[in-house]
Amino acid sequence: MTNLRVLISGAGIGGPALAFWLAQRGFEVTVVERAGELREAGYKVDVRGAATEVLRRMGLLAAAQGADTGMQLITYVNKGGKPIAQLPADLLMGRRGDDLEIMRGDLSRILHDATREQVEYVFGDSVATLTDDGEGVDVTFEKGAPRRFDYVVGADGLHSLTRRTVLGDTPLSYLGAYISIFSVPNDLGVVREEVMYSRPGRLVFAYAMEPGRPAKVGMVFASPELTYDRRDPAAQKQLVRAAFEGQGWRSDEFLAAMDAADDFYFDSMSQVELPSWSSGRVVLLGDAAHCPSPASGQGTSLALVGAFVLAQHLGEPGGLAAYESAMRTYVEKNLAFGRKMVKDMVPGGRLNIAFRNYGMRTLKFHPQKEKVIDKVLAPMHEAANAITI
Ligand SMILES: Cc1cc2nc3c(=O)[nH]c(=O)nc-3n(C[C@H](O)[C@H](O)[C@H](O)COP(=O)(O)OP(=O)(O)OC[C@H]3O[C@@H](n4cnc5c(N)ncnc54)[C@H](O)[C@@H]3O)c2cc1C
Repeated sequence: MTNLRVLISGAGIGGPALAFWLAQRGFEVTVVERAGELREAGYKVDVRGAATEVLRRMGLLAAAQGADTGMQLITYVNKGGKPIAQLPADLLMGRRGDDLEIMRGDLSRILHDATREQVEYVFGDSVATLTDDGEGVDVTFEKGAPRRFDYVVGADGLHSLTRRTVLGDTPLSYLGAYISIFSVPNDLGVVREEVMYSRPGRLVFAYAMEPGRPAKVGMVFASPELTYDRRDPAAQKQLVRAAFEGQGWRSDEFLAAMDAADDFYFDSMSQVELPSWSSGRVVLLGDAAHCPSPASGQGTSLALVGAFVLAQHLGEPGGLAAYESAMRTYVEKNLAFGRKMVKDMVPGGRLNIAFRNYGMRTLKFHPQKEKVIDKVLAPMHEAANAITI
């Protein structure tokens, strides 16, 4: 099964991970990415359970562990920035085995570096049309010359153009909040510590690794679904500004830094739920197929595992159906987990926040704190391991 030509749309996480495995199988792989260069934006992301086994088999676990955020502390602050609860990260994150946490950009770079020699990357272009004649797919691009491939994989994220092209308009399941992530100058005065600040329907979080690297900020706000231009960062920044201006702690400072940030990321917290992830010779991977939303903390793991499973089956008779059936239960558990988590991420009222803060403040004195956390995080671990690699 060699010399099959595969086009992957999207050089995020799933795209390069799939390219890695297909190149190992002898496929000729092209990755087309709309952005002009690798998008290294994003906050820290988790790689858990089955996905850590995928990284191990790629020979990249050590590199990912080497780039681990090494987060030490999580501090909750009030409106004036006064700490109201502080917990060791190890306790709160409940990591098991090789679970790791890494800046999304670091992981994206590791995957790209591991594949750039064997895989053709085309930046600054996008698929324009796909014509599947049953024996191959004719592809035209916005800029490049038309080409023919044996398979096309849409790893082009939550708003996948590939998905729209082959499946038509499939509505996203909006979870009621928007998220923005961007770099700010590293003057938080913390090292490997995350600082969190909640208001009803609002969450601000910031994380600094070592001095010399910019800090990252996340701002999440609950909202009815908004209409905005996804290609217009200035309009998106305006939405974030309207939600956080005058909201306390460092909100205004972060909003000022947001204007200068060159890695601004904004999206809705939404999920993708589809009855099928392929049509003919075109197949979806990662967020394009089954985005669980950033609230789940599982999007990266799903993309890594999906890449591994898809690479085992692509090109085999009945392979795309086998990919779906191998992934389906795992994906559904993680989508359910994401739906549950979004409510915890942006609590609606002051009482909920006060209750959560009280829990955080007293947790470290609880005689069985590890057991309490284990119980809270059990659904996450169950979802992260709901597939055998
Ligand atoms: C810049 C960025 C920052 C992110 N930050 C976070 C974060 O902080 N926390 C979090 O939980 N999740 C974040 N995510 C989402 C997270 O990366 C995914 O949930 C997860 O890793 C699954 O990866 P994926 O490869 O399926 O999708 P993604 O990582 O979203 O990658 C999709 C890629 O496809 C590209 N693309 C889109 N349309 C086209 C097109 N028409 N042609 C070619 N390429 C196209 C995009 O530019 C992107 O590089 C971020 C995504 C991006 C793109």
